[in-house]
Amino acid sequence: MVSADASEYGLGGCILQQQDDKQWKPVAYCLRSLTPSERRYAQIEKELLASVWSCERFYVYLRGLHVTIQTDHKPLVPLINIKDLWDAPLRCQRLLMRLMKYHCTAEYVPATGQSPKGNLDEIKRETALDEVLVQVASHIRSGWPKYSRDIESTTVKLCWENQDNLSLVQGILTHGNRIVIPAKMRQDMLLRIHECHQGISKSRFRAAQAVWWPGIGSDIAQYIEKCSFCQTKQSARRAEPLILTPLPERPWQRLACDLAEVSGRHYIVLVDYFSQWIEVHHFQTTTSLAVIYLLKATFACFGIPEVIVTDNGPQFLTEFNQFAKSQANNNSQTTTHRKTSTLAPGLCGVLNLALNWNIELYTPQN
Ligand SMILES: [Zn+2]
Repeated sequence: MVSADASEYGLGGCILQQQDDKQWKPVAYCLRSLTPSERRYAQIEKELLASVWSCERFYVYLRGLHVTIQTDHKPLVPLINIKDLWDAPLRCQRLLMRLMKYHCTAEYVPATGQSPKGNLDEIKRETALDEVLVQVASHIRSGWPKYSRDIESTTVKLCWENQDNLSLVQGILTHGNRIVIPAKMRQDMLLRIHECHQGISKSRFRAAQAVWWPGIGSDIAQYIEKCSFCQTKQSARRAEPLILTPLPERPWQRLACDLAEVSGRHYIVLVDYFSQWIEVHHFQTTTSLAVIYLLKATFACFGIPEVIVTDNGPQFLTEFNQFAKSQANNNSQTTTHRKTSTLAPGLCGVLNLALNWNIELYTPQN
């Protein structure tokens, strides 16, 4: 199912997949702003463009399947489902022709108010009620005091230090390109920032792209320290000495390959040394043959690497070496190197955590 929507300035789409528990969950998102000429389109044309563009973005998932397009614009439903092509306006005709590649039906879903605009309205409302932010806004309008000692509140003092970056746009405070979040909404925002259970610096980096409030850095650190999921899963992490590997000349030249076991399920993990691209495949048996079979499938997609770095696991012995040699005949250069640990320790931790998280998320509880 594809859910698409258009606003005055942009298009957005989301592909939803039905899970085992019959719930629809988002799999991928897409978003872009409209070009100046597209901004002059009628609303129905914008909505149709959003549907067409989203289908085109997700075509790898949608090809050959029946697709339901969800829209909050009612007139779009008959346009896609019933209306003959030659009855539609000219611009819609062109868009509908682009949609013909997909086997789709439109469905009307009333807007829930969870749109970005709805969130902005909420931020605006809460900013006006937030004591500290009201003070900050008045300082922005009438000028900041020369010295921070003239300010009583310590939180406002933190804003004083950032006065060069703070501004007020239509009732919403901004810090550079980031939106200043009122105190009441911060807990919810922390939850979103730490949604993927990444570490403190990654979470701070994520926040730095969109939101700010005085003391956000320490709030994130405190939140993560208290996160029960991270505490239970991260305790298994251990520090390993850092071994530097020179950067290969191009992508997919040198790969690290390792096996992982998470919650009783086996995975093969391939990491490209150049781009840090990660390939994870689930497999049933941990034999050399299973490993070779998965590697062959991956190499069919991405090409044969020159070097595969593996550990001394039993799957990477005789049979695997023969496989590497046969690949080397095709490629003239494929070799295998042995190391005790192939993946960077940080990466191992992140992978382990990500797998754990995904398994908890997508495995039915019963
Ligand atoms: Zn966490």
